[in-house]
Amino acid sequence: METSAPAEAPAAPPLRDRHTIPDRFKWNLAHIFPDVDAWKRAYDELDTKISAYAALQGTLAQGDGARLLAAYKISDEIGQLSYKVWYYVALKYDEDQRDNEMNARRQQVQILFAKFAQASAWFSPELLNIPLPRVQEWMAQNHELAVYRFAIEDLYRQQEHVLDEKGEHLLSLASRFSSAPYDAYAALSTADVKHPIVRLSNGTEVTLTYGQYRAILATNRHQPDRAAVFAEYHKLFEASVNTYASLYNGILQRDWFHAQSRGYRTTLDAALHGNNIPTTVVENLIETTKAGTEPLRRYHRLRKRILGLGTYHAYDTTLPLMDVTEKYPYDDVLEWLPASVAPLGPDYQRQLREALNSGWIDVYENPGKRSGAYSAPVYGVHPYMLLNHNDTLDAVFTLAHEAGHSMHTLLSHAHQPFVYSDYTIFIAEVPSTLSEALFLEYMLEQARSERERIVLLQHAIDGIVGTFYTQVMFADYELQAHRLVEGGQPVTSERLSEIYFTLFKTYHGDAIDYDDQSRVTWARIPHFYSTPYYVYQYATCFASSAQLMKQLTGASGPEKAAAIDRYLTLLKSGGSDHPMTLLQRAGVDLARPEPVRAVVEQLDALVTRLEQEINSQSSSLKAQGSTLKSQK
Ligand SMILES: [Zn+2]
Repeated sequence: METSAPAEAPAAPPLRDRHTIPDRFKWNLAHIFPDVDAWKRAYDELDTKISAYAALQGTLAQGDGARLLAAYKISDEIGQLSYKVWYYVALKYDEDQRDNEMNARRQQVQILFAKFAQASAWFSPELLNIPLPRVQEWMAQNHELAVYRFAIEDLYRQQEHVLDEKGEHLLSLASRFSSAPYDAYAALSTADVKHPIVRLSNGTEVTLTYGQYRAILATNRHQPDRAAVFAEYHKLFEASVNTYASLYNGILQRDWFHAQSRGYRTTLDAALHGNNIPTTVVENLIETTKAGTEPLRRYHRLRKRILGLGTYHAYDTTLPLMDVTEKYPYDDVLEWLPASVAPLGPDYQRQLREALNSGWIDVYENPGKRSGAYSAPVYGVHPYMLLNHNDTLDAVFTLAHEAGHSMHTLLSHAHQPFVYSDYTIFIAEVPSTLSEALFLEYMLEQARSERERIVLLQHAIDGIVGTFYTQVMFADYELQAHRLVEGGQPVTSERLSEIYFTLFKTYHGDAIDYDDQSRVTWARIPHFYSTPYYVYQYATCFASSAQLMKQLTGASGPEKAAAIDRYLTLLKSGGSDHPMTLLQRAGVDLARPEPVRAVVEQLDALVTRLEQEINSQSSSLKAQGSTLKSQK
């Protein structure tokens, strides 16, 4: 998940050739296939099964559900084999992306997947032609078929907004230009952009890419430099703001066109229908967060004081309070991480230990390796994790995050039939953020100095600001912008800037000194163009995780045991029901304000702890503060 947490100064160990890195720091893909020949045989088997699936077309209504069951079973076999066939070459390719041969194999699998998509396109329309009560009768008599009940009934539920053949054809023709506004945004903001060159106070000239811009705001302790790059970077968007507005209008009109064509009341209804999420979830998220901005403001006021700034601007909000010096060697983290999940019980701890020590993780960077981090759910084997561990605090929390995903995968795969083994994005970031929250608590207890505690607290607070507050503010912006077109109102750059700036001020109150250029920040945000109504899910996951954390760590005795049980049940549930239902069973109701309030309380408590650390550190901090001032 992308957050706006500040980047740390990279402290990567020297880049080593892959073959010189000891095996215990590399994943072992032989767990998937012993060699490429075995992969090739599986690939051919997959190809054969896909043809067999295609041959079932036109038979679903026969055999009182027997043929339907056969179709689901072969689809499951194809799905299970697909995981292994895809990930074996995809993970191998990520070890060194200069490997052309592996890249070709990857593409070969993608072509096979496209073939399967074509070979299976008949399935849903053919099933939906059979009346649901008849299929329900079959399920009542056939317990093997009944396993697929949720998947089948959900398909019929979605059917409500599927048009007749003529209508669907028309929409498929229209879909060919629906990506044009985003493509144009990407070209304007990336491919065709002329990055400005800025001269910093020390004389260096910097080409202001987005990465450079972020890095300067997160590392440069001289405020006029930050102000200068902020101004130059925003000029890029001011200069083309009307073009950005008309591209964004294209996105809004497209979404409204699709919503109306399919008979949804609003664009938000259309966006939430797939996961069966009521719109009150988003409305409640927005309202409750807006009412809980005081700890956010308190944090910024505190930052202003610690950084010793006379005025405090948008470009001052990501600077670290302390320079980070601590290093976190990977072997230490391997001990800490299982210790941190003690609140989840010994079984969970044991399984995590196994996940960390069994050749599931590719730890260090090497030439050609894919950047970033992920957890790959290889069904029938185990999850794999890709890291680029460089001993920084960010890297440590990245491992905690990916380990949360992997444990979710492990439990879900172990307890669900294949058809429900995958979980939705609406739940995916709950275990990862909960794992980070548990790890933070552990690290705070272990911290060797007040200074380190301050660094940890800032890390946690910036995580909440970036993954929660900013994302809710974005969701609010998207909702207001879409409502313009739904209400038949004009969409102009002025109007969009007004919505954005008003929101920005509503969140930050008097804690920030505003610059007019913040008005156009909306024009830059890629999510608005690429994936409308998507980022709110980061915030709902975070809220769910905050409430679960409260239940897990706040209670004691049988109440605590019940909370652990509910949480593990959530992880074991995969995608076996709608995400809201699964979360409700875990004790989280996102239609109510409590989960969001749990985040507000969490932030409030963290800011208070930060304040206490700062105050108890006042003498040494004064020294730090005066160095900062002298650098300014
Ligand atoms: Zn994640």
